[in-house]
Amino acid sequence: MSESKSEYLDLPIPELVAKVRNQEVTAEFLVNQSLELIKANQDYHAILDVNQSALDQAKAIDKAIADGETLGVLSGVPFIAKDNFLTKNTKTTAASKMLDNFQAPYQASAIDKLEAAGAIMVAKANLDEFAHGSSTENSAYGPTKNPHDSSKVPGGSSGGSAAAVALNITPFALGTDTGGSIRLPASFCGVVGYKPTYGLVSRYGVIAMASSTDVIGPITRSVSDSAYVLDVLAGQDVNDSTTIKRQDSYLINQDGNKKRDLKGIKFGIIKEHLEMIEDKDVLANIKAAIDKLKAAGADIKEVSLSNSEASLPVYYILAPAEISSNLARYDGVKYGFSSKQAKDLLDTYLLSRGSGFGSESIRRILTGTYVLSSGYQDAYYKQAQKVRSLIVKEYEDIFADVDFLIGPTAATTAFDLGAKPDPISMYKSDYMTIAANLAGIPAISIPSGNVGNLPVGLQLQGPQGQDKQLLDVAHVIGELI
Ligand code: GLN
Repeated sequence: MSESKSEYLDLPIPELVAKVRNQEVTAEFLVNQSLELIKANQDYHAILDVNQSALDQAKAIDKAIADGETLGVLSGVPFIAKDNFLTKNTKTTAASKMLDNFQAPYQASAIDKLEAAGAIMVAKANLDEFAHGSSTENSAYGPTKNPHDSSKVPGGSSGGSAAAVALNITPFALGTDTGGSIRLPASFCGVVGYKPTYGLVSRYGVIAMASSTDVIGPITRSVSDSAYVLDVLAGQDVNDSTTIKRQDSYLINQDGNKKRDLKGIKFGIIKEHLEMIEDKDVLANIKAAIDKLKAAGADIKEVSLSNSEASLPVYYILAPAEISSNLARYDGVKYGFSSKQAKDLLDTYLLSRGSGFGSESIRRILTGTYVLSSGYQDAYYKQAQKVRSLIVKEYEDIFADVDFLIGPTAATTAFDLGAKPDPISMYKSDYMTIAANLAGIPAISIPSGNVGNLPVGLQLQGPQGQDKQLLDVAHVIGELI
């Protein structure tokens, strides 16, 4: 792994902010460091576009601080956003030829909130096209490589964001998680990936994939940094009617830095997830982590998510259905790629969509259109919705019995680039992350050491709306394992 050592960028975010506020370091210096690290790590291909206004934004923050203004809780902190967030000062491509060179007319609420708190977006990160994938190999601009081993994938679809944080380019990055796209790359890159409760962070201005499971979340080096960033992002937004009320605060250890132990906290291990792990070393890693929890007083028992098996097919019916609808707007007429070969309107639709979308996005549009078609929607779409309700109900029953679920984020460590050309084998990478999206519950992947030189991720899931509780317990576990 390349060593991106930086005197300041590797500090916990609140400490970094304190240094900017007391003028020990300038925002300009930090942004310059991030920009240099982007250049030095170009070979990993984590970044698609750089914000040319970042230095000006940093200088404005430094000036305000010098003028004695009180600035926000992320003052001077550089960050990177996945390239499916609409942003003012860079292109927004979703890693698709369909949006090559696209300049968004407005900016995502999440970016606005971070900027209002003083953070500076330095770049946009690579992803699977329209977030369709688990390895970042579906990007129209070529794959991102894993910082721990450049012959491996970083996971996806927020692979560029996770790789950038693992490379220490910025202290945090934004990702989106529709079926695991924050947690899987976090697990493969050895960083923390947090998927909030559905609706906790506004999706306004994020390119829609599957609207009923899309969420936005931070990728960081520590749980407490994720909580710190969430505290800025969370809350209702008039521009996104699915947003929900936030909890008072997400910050960790406000009550005098006391570490909680795990006595009396009930954890369930999903039996079906453990059974899926074929790699003995990954299994041993997860079991060792669980043993440490037991030693810290946690009350752990096996539980069954009997609908686990169904999660994958249910998701790969419902997500394509929503994708086919959300991607209908790319018609070669309104905006985005338009084929020059087209002779009439129908030609414009067919040629623009036929060559603007990559093969995985086309596969999803076709599958989604099929499962929604009049002859088949009862057999597929409606049936999948019924099974989704069973999954939601089963989680509710489990959380009546245990406080949190614990287990692996993925059955393997990062796999070789090009290892999964068959879509079904790629889809199976999401086996352990997808059910949380279908149920809308919060989930987090934290690093659990390495197998060989590759990181393993431990996943924690909690009941809907209990993000604060989940982050608190993940923080304690992160310090323990
Ligand atoms: N890997 C899953 C998919 O390809 C999830 C993607 C995501 O969360 N954006 O659909």
